Amino acid sequence: MKPLLFALLAALSLPAAAEARLSAPEKKMIQAVERERERTITLLERLVNQNSGSLNLPGVEAVGRMMRAELEPLGFEVRWVPMAEVKRAGHIVATHKGNGRGKRMLLIGHLDTVFEPDSPFQGFKREGDRAIGPGVGDDKGGMVVMVAALRAMQAAGTLKDADIEIVLTGDEEDAGDPIEIARRDLVAAGKRADVALDFEGLADENGRDMGSISRRSSGSWEIRATGKGGHSSGIFGPGAGNGAIYELARIISAFRTELPEQNLTFNVGLIAGGSTANLDEAKIRAAATGKTNIIPGIAIARGDIRTLSRASRRSG
Ligand SMILES: [Zn+2]
Repeated sequence: MKPLLFALLAALSLPAAAEARLSAPEKKMIQAVERERERTITLLERLVNQNSGSLNLPGVEAVGRMMRAELEPLGFEVRWVPMAEVKRAGHIVATHKGNGRGKRMLLIGHLDTVFEPDSPFQGFKREGDRAIGPGVGDDKGGMVVMVAALRAMQAAGTLKDADIEIVLTGDEEDAGDPIEIARRDLVAAGKRADVALDFEGLADENGRDMGSISRRSSGSWEIRATGKGGHSSGIFGPGAGNGAIYELARIISAFRTELPEQNLTFNVGLIAGGSTANLDEAKIRAAATGKTNIIPGIAIARGDIRTLSRASRRSG
């Protein structure tokens, strides 16, 4: 993980020459960000230490409560929008009423991460200027930058007149279905706003900050290969064939050698095979049984595919 948070915090402070040209409130904001650096990092630590995998609904709700506790003291009216109907935790929608004269801002972030409670990647670690842990950058780092910026505005006296709405979704990494309900509140907030800022980290390549001008799609796939079960001594013979696991391995290996093209990726994320193989309801865990001397009857693989164009998706 890149030390995104620290890069973002550094971006909020400026070299001396630029600082000289700043207005008095802007200077106050920089001082506030500097002054609260440790508070901001401690908030990140607390958020990261609360697991909030998209499917860990109580965990996502707990992070929602922590963000409510940050936003209410800043004068936001905070609503929790439950999303049980799409089998997700819910979203935070927070509104700050200003004087109605400036631009209406929408700030976007998300409460969830891809790391569920049974992932080995848990907890916050700090190594000098690096923070390591699930969501340090994506997107708990984004949320703490948002809070740091709003607190700096409050310290500088510029928050009270600002019209700001915040939407923190609880299912950014694995959206609920149907998407029309899962994204209803975010789309509505987008229509109310003049400007939207998404607090996600940008990539850096060779030390240069990179912005995104297009975004790849994301889809998933599943393959179930079947074979004739039987005693292993007969494998490869005309009656038995290769079994399900060799067949699945052959298909996946052909993906790797035959399909690559520019801007296309496809990952195999989970695989299971044997005499029996089953996925759980969420399709993120597998259970399999088998013996070394039995030809496996079933093998299952799941993965994703990300493409830049529809054409690439079809040819893929
Ligand atoms: Zn994200």
